[in-house]
Amino acid sequence: MKKFVCVALLLPSLAWAQPERLGDTVRPLRQRVFLRTNPAQSNYTGSTQILLKVEKATTQFRLHALELRIKKAVLNESIGLKIETQSPTVLLTATRPLQPGQYRLSLEFAANYNTHSVGLYKFKDGERPYLSTQFEMAEARRCFPCFDEPAFKIPFQMTVAAPSDLRVVSNSPQLKESKKAGWTTHEFAPTPPMPSYLVALAVGPFQSVPVAGMRIPGRILAPQGKIGLAGFSRKNTPAIVKALENYFGIPYAYAKLDQVAISEFPYGAMENAGLVTYHEDILLVNGKTASEDSKTLTLMVIAHELSHQWFGNLVTMKWWNDLWLNEAFASWMASKIVNQLYPELEFFLETPQNNVMTQDANLSSKPIRKPIRSEADVMDGLGLAYNKGEWF
Ligand SMILES: [Zn+2]
Repeated sequence: MKKFVCVALLLPSLAWAQPERLGDTVRPLRQRVFLRTNPAQSNYTGSTQILLKVEKATTQFRLHALELRIKKAVLNESIGLKIETQSPTVLLTATRPLQPGQYRLSLEFAANYNTHSVGLYKFKDGERPYLSTQFEMAEARRCFPCFDEPAFKIPFQMTVAAPSDLRVVSNSPQLKESKKAGWTTHEFAPTPPMPSYLVALAVGPFQSVPVAGMRIPGRILAPQGKIGLAGFSRKNTPAIVKALENYFGIPYAYAKLDQVAISEFPYGAMENAGLVTYHEDILLVNGKTASEDSKTLTLMVIAHELSHQWFGNLVTMKWWNDLWLNEAFASWMASKIVNQLYPELEFFLETPQNNVMTQDANLSSKPIRKPIRSEADVMDGLGLAYNKGEWF
């Protein structure tokens, strides 16, 4: 069986020390994020502006921020806010009551890069440092303050400054760039509405090749010296996108499709909208010498992640209790597409449903649909949801 886990499902995290939800008294409408990053260093600074809607009069509200040093918080550039850390949230209290309406929240912050492959994290390929992100399930809050729950789908507009010799990519195409004193500021187009767990960023001396044959621009990116292995994924991606568009009857919804090979990544891949990250062993395979199993795994993971661009990204569960359906459908879709496009692989001859039934019969097996109060609840037994949901 050539199954895999594509998202942040395998490693436990301490992100949800407090399980309660943010509520909807104050909710975000759109968010701008500015980050000043240099992978050669161990920390970064940033600022964010969030357009908020206050639904009911209040003096205080919370949003997520974990291991961030928030230095300044102000509403409409005039209403001061007291900052109180209640990890993984911050409680902001206004100096006067906030009546219903729209407000602009501005925050300035600093943080260390994560080194455990969550949030905005640093890794090395050889001696060269890089940055990548992994925000599912609740790790965007480690990168910048945000309303880090999947029901809050809003446009994000990312602007990232980095040393001028580095590549910077995010979910959307770059709109413009400006250079000053060895640094380049990259301003990206606003995204379509999306949850914070799908925002992504990669910074470093990446190399890239274009992916031709799609309605939208596409690239494969890889760390220095490895782009020569991008050919197999580059060749097969357009057919998979087209098969998915035909099945769903809806064009791919994002303005571009970048697929990035990451050398330190604890999962198979992550379906960030328009910027899919993969463990390099999956995205970069030698089409001439790789085993049949290896190539089939690559095709399956690409099909799985790209099917999420519709199921999960375009249509998102309100809360994590429906994540099982998201993953089960992506797994089912990947098998369907790979069987359809590559019948010579005879993938359909395998009978993983027998393994699923054995797993499901274990006394320790958990229901795949269950209440979710914490990240631990999401992780608990989710692996079975991929296969069980796919085959039943
Ligand atoms: Zn998935």
